Amino acid sequence: MRLQNTLTGAVEDLVPVTPDRIGLYVCGVTPYDAAHVGHAMSLMVYDVLVRYLRWRGYQVTFVSNYTDVDDKLIERAAQQGRDPLELANANIEQWEREQQSLGLLLPDVRPRVTREIENIIGMIEEIVANGFAYVTPAGDVYFRVRSKADYGKLSHRNIDDLRTGTRFEPGDEKEFALDFALWKAQKPGEPAWDSPWGKGRPGWHIECSAMARRYLYTKEGGDRFDIHGGGVDLIFPHHENEIAQAEAAKHAPGPTFANIWMHNGMVQRDGEKMSKSLGNVVNVAEALDRWSPDAIRMYVLSSKYRQPNNLTDEAMAAAVAGIERLTAALRPGSGTTPPSVDAVDAVATRTRFIEAMEDDLGTPQALAALFDLARAINRGRDAGEGIEAAQATLRELAGVLGLTLVERATDEAAARLDPVPFAKLASRLDVACSGKDVASTIDALVERRLAARTAKDWALADTIRKELDALGVTLEDGPQGTRWGVKR
Ligand SMILES: [Zn+2]
Repeated sequence: MRLQNTLTGAVEDLVPVTPDRIGLYVCGVTPYDAAHVGHAMSLMVYDVLVRYLRWRGYQVTFVSNYTDVDDKLIERAAQQGRDPLELANANIEQWEREQQSLGLLLPDVRPRVTREIENIIGMIEEIVANGFAYVTPAGDVYFRVRSKADYGKLSHRNIDDLRTGTRFEPGDEKEFALDFALWKAQKPGEPAWDSPWGKGRPGWHIECSAMARRYLYTKEGGDRFDIHGGGVDLIFPHHENEIAQAEAAKHAPGPTFANIWMHNGMVQRDGEKMSKSLGNVVNVAEALDRWSPDAIRMYVLSSKYRQPNNLTDEAMAAAVAGIERLTAALRPGSGTTPPSVDAVDAVATRTRFIEAMEDDLGTPQALAALFDLARAINRGRDAGEGIEAAQATLRELAGVLGLTLVERATDEAAARLDPVPFAKLASRLDVACSGKDVASTIDALVERRLAARTAKDWALADTIRKELDALGVTLEDGPQGTRWGVKR
């Protein structure tokens, strides 16, 4: 597989540090608030990378951190009169539930700063001992940027370019404007831990260097792991600083830290950055209420991961239609003649799919191969040819992308459902129904959900969707309204 490496600017072969294994680190969220769909869409890129590499036979270790102590988190907790750690835990729990609802793989290792303090302090001590950091009288520890001659190599700028616009804050005891905190001395009321420099907490950047090193360096691989990912907005200063720290702490000569630096584009809403201050944030519950996890994934995969991703209702409608096309191709055929479509298209599709994915995670081209296969299947069905093997290939390759393509059943399937749990759900939600006919009860619940959405009661709308899902009924929102189907 070849991936674009921000560090070298080239598309490079992914050569595992340890044969048959891949270590991946992706910067995670700071849980001061609920995550939004932009976070989920960024993570989806790496989710697909992990699924693909596993499908190709690699043993992947996927690590992503939680910054569960930080300025914003402390500030938000103070506003709400809550303990910062309790606030962080609540948001992390919600985010992990949401990731699962979205069909995202949870990272294998999800370290939290507050549980890694010893590890982080150890790395800072090494950096200080190696002469790359200094301790101020106040008990802060700063990284000495000018001690690293190649600082700026990831963002491809030099120290003089980078220092333009940076300034000293009042009370700073920094030697140089670009120097950044490895350890922050405790301020009144802040959570703090003991350290060789007094009570305090880690600066933001050090956690990722310390966690990636702890969970991804191997004996065989040395001070090295395979892929470091994150949003393009993290290249400077965060990722630049991660490299500087890792190199400053190292013992053995030779290359250090991540081989390939992979960066995803940011998600925009109607052409604007998605942000609280612009009021255009789409939270995960709202997104899941409007669109299926498959449709959200289809939208993400339809463009190249490095491009900025503009979330519009039109783009989502196209994604919904795309999922419908792929799902429709899985409807059974009645073919009895030899499976010509199987023999030809499925093999060619697999080759095209792999070529696309190997070429810097080319998901748009991989999807194009699946759409062509879907068309071939439909032609085969119309011609009365066998299509099962081609359908199995479509299902398998879609699964590599994390698409479930849940098949919808018909009214006969609905008639087989037990009416009792649906009637109970309706009565619990105060939805009028006759209780006899399951389909009309489901219709009434779908209506209730629509009313909740109109009233912007996303929580209730989401509850109805989830409860129906648990009973085997899936909803799909499209331009013609909401359709429901029965899972097979
Ligand atoms: Zn990071």
